[in-house]
Amino acid sequence: IAFIVNLPKAELHAHLNGSIPIATLQELARDFPVGDDQSDQVEVGLEKLQHPDGVGLEEIHDFFGLFPAIYALTATPEALRRATRSVLREFLEIDDSIGGPQCTYIELRTIPKSTGLMSRGEYARVVLDEIEKYPVEQAALIISVDRKMNETEMGEVVDLAVSLKEEGRRVVGIDVCGNPLNGDMNRLERHILKAKGAGLGVTLHIAETKDNPPAETLKLLSYEPNRLGHATFLDAEAKGIVIRSPDVCIEICLSSNLLCKTVPSLEDHHIGYYLDRNHPVAICTDDILPFRNSLLGEYALLMAAPPIGLGLKEAEVTRIAEMSLRSRFGH
Ligand code: 5GP
Repeated sequence: IAFIVNLPKAELHAHLNGSIPIATLQELARDFPVGDDQSDQVEVGLEKLQHPDGVGLEEIHDFFGLFPAIYALTATPEALRRATRSVLREFLEIDDSIGGPQCTYIELRTIPKSTGLMSRGEYARVVLDEIEKYPVEQAALIISVDRKMNETEMGEVVDLAVSLKEEGRRVVGIDVCGNPLNGDMNRLERHILKAKGAGLGVTLHIAETKDNPPAETLKLLSYEPNRLGHATFLDAEAKGIVIRSPDVCIEICLSSNLLCKTVPSLEDHHIGYYLDRNHPVAICTDDILPFRNSLLGEYALLMAAPPIGLGLKEAEVTRIAEMSLRSRFGH
């Protein structure tokens, strides 16, 4: 464990509302009671998230059903501030029981939401205010577009990311996330060009399920993203394009893929394909709230003997951690 704790590494794929420590979410439920119209949803959501046997997902689509309850609890500026602070602490501050932090640097991502109590801009600024309390070498923000957004909403979110960056705020990239079967990815083109033109990095959730059509995957790759989230079901043509782009890092979320049942076992995980070809990967947590994982735990999976882990040696794990640092947008 000391080796993993002391290894400099970057967390590049963590969703804010999916990374709130459960104790913080329970405090938010206590301190910011929701209205009657949302109380049943919050109660059921918290029950699932606290269940002693874990969240129990039959498939990836069950996972997206957890978020409305969490959103009800982070809908005010003060609740969002507390949630963000707690997520950053969880990743960056030294845990005395293990003698170090989870990571040396985090690019936290979130979809700026207009909640009725905050505009998208206010939402992003609340999150940035917390991120910017840490040195630039430690934390930055990626602004996410939800696949289900219409063209106008996508434009609003990307314009917000660009204007915050132009103001000097610590926004380093954009992401496209949300239920992988929503939306038309042809709509993204001009927004991605705008983000790139402003100097923002681009990461795209891609081919997360077997139902994502190859044509959509090729379209997303045609936007020449800098990093890819998951990239689980790339076909031979798509893999060829990725391998011929030696700087495109794959954000790998081992536990997330196993728990959402998009990958049957670590032995079958696509990380092996990229490691064999010396292609950059970054090990990430995705959503520690439902998955109950940690970045140190994900690195431990790299090193544990098969079939629990991948049985990688220290030198290989050091190389993987270095790749995560090289793939940061914010440097
Ligand atoms: P937020 O952006 O609200 O801070 O974080 C939660 C949101 O991130 C979810 O509503 C969902 O849209 C997105 N998200 C979290 N995990 C995943 C994932 O594994 N795949 C995809 N496609 N989206 C995710």
